[in-house]
Amino acid sequence: MAARRVWIAGHKGMVGSAITRLLEGRGETVMKVDRSVVDLRNQIAVEVWLKQNRPDAIVFAAAKVGGIYANDTYPADFIYDNLAIETNIIHSAHVAGVDRLVFLGSSCIYPKFAPQPITEDALLTGPLEPTNEWYAVAKIAGIKLCQAYRKQYGRRYISVMPCNLYGPNDNFDLQTSHVLPALIRKFHEAKQAGKPEVVVWGTGTPLREFLHVDDLARGVVFCLDNYDGYEHINCGAGSEVTIRELAETVQRAVGFSGRLVFDTTKPDGTPRKLMDSSRLRELGWAPTIPLEKGVADAYQWFLKREKAPDRSVVEAVG
Ligand code: GDP
Repeated sequence: MAARRVWIAGHKGMVGSAITRLLEGRGETVMKVDRSVVDLRNQIAVEVWLKQNRPDAIVFAAAKVGGIYANDTYPADFIYDNLAIETNIIHSAHVAGVDRLVFLGSSCIYPKFAPQPITEDALLTGPLEPTNEWYAVAKIAGIKLCQAYRKQYGRRYISVMPCNLYGPNDNFDLQTSHVLPALIRKFHEAKQAGKPEVVVWGTGTPLREFLHVDDLARGVVFCLDNYDGYEHINCGAGSEVTIRELAETVQRAVGFSGRLVFDTTKPDGTPRKLMDSSRLRELGWAPTIPLEKGVADAYQWFLKREKAPDRSVVEAVG
């Protein structure tokens, strides 16, 4: 165990960097490769690198990710990049003889109107949410790839489905980010500029489940060490808030005293996506960071980044 070498694919993204921090903190050897060296969409590059470096395990945190606007606007990029990255890494891992892999998916794999809270067996039981179906289809393919290589070759490849995430190294670009980092930035900039209001997209009524990425990292490493099932497994906070409540939480953390305005010309996306994570909880993982505290910490991280912007962080989404 002490000698295990784990390749974190996507180590500069929010998820990959959190898992890297956790594993390195435990004294484990983390392998990293920059996108300037290996473009994960390039099959030959991935296959050659994996054969030469042959990690003991792979944590698959690389993906093209984005919020509702980016998903809706760049469907080809979201489906192509993610399918390419997945087929390249999972197939090449098998070819290189890597027997252990944890694939990271998303709660958007589930049907738009899945019964709530969403259990793992809701997969492929109904139509997807149209704003991010391209990304969702690619992530479903990732789960199926893991299952196929397990079924045909006995590979110990597993899949973990996180809910909406936030934390250090998030993407704060307003066009491509998810809601939580977008709101941190919007409230911060409105406060700085003394503006009277902040615009929140949609009606404010959709419900979302937010998990701090450090809690997810512990869940992923827990699964790496303890879970070896054919089925994907949910990893969520277990509680949900409306987008309005989230906006009010961010508003308090930032200390903005103006008002909220809802832009209903922007899409709401799926009305609700609360996952049932009881399988993982029964195995022994539980989240530890309450939303109010997590958001306050995320704002502090944003403030430090404002002072010393790190381009590599901004570019390394996923
Ligand atoms: P989703 O969970 O896949 O829908 O992704 P997002 O995190 O991008 O959006 C979640 C919800 O927050 C949607 O209902 C958005 O319309 C809403 N939202 C409100 N304001 C914003 C914003 O400034 N940016 C984003 N990305 N979403 C926002």
